[in-house]
Amino acid sequence: MMCSENGTKGLAALRRAVFALFAGRCAWAAPAGPEKFVRIADVAPGVILEPRYYSTYNFTGERLPGYDRPDMALCREAASALAKAEAMFEARGLRLKIYDAYRPARAVEYFYRWSLNGDVRMKSYFYPKLDKSVLHLKGYIALRSGHSRGSAVDCTLVDMKTGRELDMGGPFDLFDERSHYAARGLTKVQERSRAVLRSVMMECGFKGIRSEWWHFVLKDEPYPDTYFDFPLSDVGRLDTIGSE
Ligand SMILES: [Zn+2]
Repeated sequence: MMCSENGTKGLAALRRAVFALFAGRCAWAAPAGPEKFVRIADVAPGVILEPRYYSTYNFTGERLPGYDRPDMALCREAASALAKAEAMFEARGLRLKIYDAYRPARAVEYFYRWSLNGDVRMKSYFYPKLDKSVLHLKGYIALRSGHSRGSAVDCTLVDMKTGRELDMGGPFDLFDERSHYAARGLTKVQERSRAVLRSVMMECGFKGIRSEWWHFVLKDEPYPDTYFDFPLSDVGRLDTIGSE
């Protein structure tokens, strides 16, 4: 079909409009994600990874959606702060062990759905004193998690001489007041272990929270309002590297 000049101009205007719409949509949807993230193993190879939500040893008893690889990732800024912490801990004869870092939003949604079902098979390990129905009310389960923003880590310390975890006075993901950083009834050794973990993480740019001794988030997190949802296997793929 022949186009008149007016028709051609009209087509160009339409193209511009579609492009502007598309660009606007991209701006709204950005940042896409994986290209802004790195695998922890690539930037902090001395860190021990124990991905609890890839395994079934977590409070749901299931591997979580989005954890399609036994791997962990953080945004570049948080990862470089973690590498600094790794070096500082190593100088003290300690190794960082990470239980979770970037958490796809779909996994957090799964937590919420799980909180409404009747499955209590992991109760004795993770919420022995609480009825499952109150986990949401108590704030242990939420609709969104700071982990999905890519700047949070759950971690503990391992003694390099013995290969054993330091005694923190309670395990990771225990839904109990004992998990509060300043919980009552801790021994001096347990208090000191928590303090060592927290002081070095703070020195490297992270901040802790009151309710979980293991949780840290980068103070100046670069994506404070973005909840990413790509699966772990998207991080470090050739088609996502350097496409920022
Ligand atoms: Zn956490």
